[in-house]
Amino acid sequence: MAMLTLLTKLVSFRSAHAKLFEYPWSRCNAIPYGRTAMACMCTEHKFMYDLIVLGGGSGGLAAAKEAVNYGAKVAVFDFVSPSPQGTSWGLGGTCVNVGCIPKKLMHQAALLGEAIHESAAYGWQIDPETVKISWEALRTAVQNHVKSVNWVTRVELRTKKVEYINALGYFKDKHTIMGVMKTGQEKEFTAQHILIAVGGRPRYPNIPGALEYAITSDDIFSLEKPPGKTLVIGAGYIGLECAGFLNGLGFEATLMVRSIILRGFDHHMANSIADDMQKRGVKILFEAQATKIEKQKDGRLLVHYKNKDGQALTDTFDTVLIAVGRRPLTRELKPENIGLKLIPETDKVDAVNEESNVPNVYAVGDVLSGKPELTPVAIHAGRLLARRLFANSTEQMDYVNVATTVFSPLEYGCVGLSEDDAIIQYGEDRIEVYHAYYKPTEFFIPQKDVTNCYLKVIALREDDERVLGMHFLGPNAGEVIQGFAAAMKCNLTFPKLKSTVGIHPTVAEEFTRVSVTKRSGLDPKPQSCCS
Ligand code: FAD
Ligand code: NDP
Repeated sequence: MAMLTLLTKLVSFRSAHAKLFEYPWSRCNAIPYGRTAMACMCTEHKFMYDLIVLGGGSGGLAAAKEAVNYGAKVAVFDFVSPSPQGTSWGLGGTCVNVGCIPKKLMHQAALLGEAIHESAAYGWQIDPETVKISWEALRTAVQNHVKSVNWVTRVELRTKKVEYINALGYFKDKHTIMGVMKTGQEKEFTAQHILIAVGGRPRYPNIPGALEYAITSDDIFSLEKPPGKTLVIGAGYIGLECAGFLNGLGFEATLMVRSIILRGFDHHMANSIADDMQKRGVKILFEAQATKIEKQKDGRLLVHYKNKDGQALTDTFDTVLIAVGRRPLTRELKPENIGLKLIPETDKVDAVNEESNVPNVYAVGDVLSGKPELTPVAIHAGRLLARRLFANSTEQMDYVNVATTVFSPLEYGCVGLSEDDAIIQYGEDRIEVYHAYYKPTEFFIPQKDVTNCYLKVIALREDDERVLGMHFLGPNAGEVIQGFAAAMKCNLTFPKLKSTVGIHPTVAEEFTRVSVTKRSGLDPKPQSCCS
């Protein structure tokens, strides 16, 4: 009781004499601010802000919004340089404008087209032959959604009192950012802490015509005219997803693969995605490389390429979409002005626990070396960093076992090690691979192809069969794998997985039914439906 009275007195004294509680107690470094804490005061004495965030994308915005919760004074710089084709967009970064969100919407549009064709088998009285996509309507709907998110983001920043500065920032010194405004005018801004969250932009291969005539993921989601017959160069996430939804929307899609599909992923799963895409009509040119892109008189693009035998070939396309990886926008920050260490081969920031070699300069998101380029990773790391800077937290980002999904037509979700990596890390004798093909119930009536509906669980043979990796190819793979990722975070073992009661009839329950090991050589073909 006495304690409570003392606390009440302290609170009312603090309200009455708020100024007293400002400097020097609230210097910017790791002060345990509560949500009701006073604003950080180093801004009043030395710097304009406690934190300047360079980049208003997934990671930067998450960090900024979290930092203001603890009383920090924060400014976010966000500036989008137009793509070589002239495409530009608003606040929110890659994911919102030219990444996850428009991609998922176009993927969904393609899935709906597939569903329309299946619905006749379920009794819907439609003529699937007359159904076709209006690219203009789809693009408009997608762009309207994107613009609404841009607007909500601006309002949210204003409400939370995060200052949004629409300028391209670069380092003058380790506490000073030069902002190049839209007018070209330069202004100086200072902060105690600076967070680099500038993400990346698509790379272009060094071949004639690529920059002039090809588009990238920066352009496809707002393309004025329907893409038509499209060549997608690159077989990573973006290449597979774009070729997949374009084909699903009814456009002729060709995927040009330099070496392998989805480098870094479980190679069996990756090959199954390719097989499924081919069955759906995507043409795949394996071990092929484009050498030149020319514009013809009719506006179509003539692509010169070499096939795997070194033969020089050509084909004509309406659109060439390049998806050969992304480069971080770090050189534009003039890192040399502060001696910021970048990895020479990639220009990514060399950071441990998001801390660069310059003590008050941090980095999150796609600019980080050796970390997954995924939105939730950027967001999580940004939030945790803000808590460490302004709320005395010590929690670090855990980049291990981050789940991910490739939104190919038949989706692929995974978490943990691939079979290939598990063998490298532990040796074949120490791991058990459980696998199964399965038949989604909803595939029966329209007689959809089930040959690639497949999953595998990789477990250690020792340590109570701790699960090392889970892989799922099938409908709604992202939804399926998310919960299992949480289970793996809690040290899921194979016996625990098997003792989990499934939800019937779902595709996710197949993980609770898997029992055939690869080692046994037994047939992993589907078990019976309901027993
Ligand atoms: P970004 O979101 O890229 O934000 C950086 C911002 O900084 C940008 O607005 C940029 O214009 C701005 N900027 C750059 N330089 C400066 C400067 N000097 N001054 C001021 N502003 C600057 N991830 C998923 O998890 N799931 C998905 O399904 C998924 N799909 C994707 C699909 C595509 C086509 C692409 C391209 C990416 C996809 N990603 C997906 C990846 C995801 O978009 C990124 O990992 C995420 O956006 C990275 O966030 P970030 O904060 O690091 O950078
Ligand atoms: P990736 O790095 O995933 O893949 C790049 C692809 O381009 C590889 O197949 C690579 O082949 C190929 N390539 C590289 N250089 C050339 C070249 N000169 N000519 C031909 N092919 C080339 O990059 P993405 O652009 O697909 O995606 C970038 C990142 O964005 C991803 O890593 C991912 O983290 C994120 N993302 C996430 C998504 C999701 O979560 N669903 C969706 C989309 C993107 P090779 O193997 O031979 O090097």
